[in-house]
Amino acid sequence: MFRLAVAQFEEAADRLALDPRLRERLKLPQRALIVSIPIRMDDGSVKVYAGYRVQHDTALGPSKGGVRFHPEVNLGEVAALAMWMTWKCALVGLPYGGAKGGIRVGPEKLSRSELERLTRRYTAEIAPLIGPEEDIAAPDVGTNAQVMAWMMDTFSQQVGYAVPGVVTGKPLAIGGSLGREDATGRGVVDVISEAMQRLNLKMAEATVVVQGFGNVGMHTARIVHQTGAKVLAVSDAKGGIYNSGGLDIPTLISRYNSKTRPLDDCKVGESMTNEELLQLPCSVLVPAALSEQITVRNAARLRCRILAEGANGPTTLEADRILEDQGIFVIPDILANSGGVIVSYFEWVQDVQKYFWTEQDIRDRLHAIISSAFQRTVEFAQTRNVSMRMAALMSGIDKIAQAHLARGLYP
Ligand code: GLU
Repeated sequence: MFRLAVAQFEEAADRLALDPRLRERLKLPQRALIVSIPIRMDDGSVKVYAGYRVQHDTALGPSKGGVRFHPEVNLGEVAALAMWMTWKCALVGLPYGGAKGGIRVGPEKLSRSELERLTRRYTAEIAPLIGPEEDIAAPDVGTNAQVMAWMMDTFSQQVGYAVPGVVTGKPLAIGGSLGREDATGRGVVDVISEAMQRLNLKMAEATVVVQGFGNVGMHTARIVHQTGAKVLAVSDAKGGIYNSGGLDIPTLISRYNSKTRPLDDCKVGESMTNEELLQLPCSVLVPAALSEQITVRNAARLRCRILAEGANGPTTLEADRILEDQGIFVIPDILANSGGVIVSYFEWVQDVQKYFWTEQDIRDRLHAIISSAFQRTVEFAQTRNVSMRMAALMSGIDKIAQAHLARGLYP
């Protein structure tokens, strides 16, 4: 994954004719911390997990990015995700650099108390690096508001007073924001609507396929269904379900439980594999699961008009070229899924100011920021004659480059 992030960066840097002195600095993370996290398991034994926190760049402000709990997490992946956070925040105009963290663990294999001890010890280990003015964490794959609450509490216990601004995506009760839970999905639907308008397509006639039914996929399916579009299929890691007449999403959500009731047991459609799902004819395909799902192997078989990347890094470099040849309109990850970090920014602003907004304020401001980022990216792509992915990357990288040039090199 780090290779993918660097290859994308190199191509964008070439097209921008980026100053060679900046190129080397931006290719590698500014800081990376590897920690080992010993925890006492419920049976009394001790297990040690590997954890990471990578800060890619802090030229524009504190670094920002989620924490991922997944059995495949490694330093390269976290560094790639941190780099993408830098470009994402810069692209949409947030005063942040990029970061990411993770623990190599399958969280569903742990009891709640083991998960709490793991989260708290991880937070204590990375505490020297994080803080509301230094580096702000958030949920990502395998983490949620509860994990953020434990992180906030652990950090706060160490300094002796409540520091809500050290993490975003927290529960409302401790300074979380209205509208954060479904912000990424809402942003995905905002940019889908923009793209539909651009292609002269109507939302009410759209058919949508969503890969992934976690925080991003589920809310995307729910909100896009509310717009009147038909959601043909959704999936999770175990497989998907399909209904040619459109899935009844509210019923599906009320029945589904990732641990106890799989999608194909919810009785709203027929089973289908993830691979079949990606190849369904539809107006919009939303990969909202893990990275590198669209590769040379399946890219030519995609049958969507618009690809809206809810996940980070779902498309490989080679697959990108195939999508371009096929004329698929790609809304790249750093734009399509930026709703999450945009509302994280709102949460942090509210925490720092101790003044909280209404949900309507949050939605309106999210819509304003993400739609204008979409329009700017479309214009950039047209004037520079590059793909939407390159346009998004180039805009983000250029902003960071300008900041570095203005600040100069210390000492
Ligand atoms: N994990 C999300 C992302 O990849 C959100 C990050 C954040 O809110 O800081 O964009």
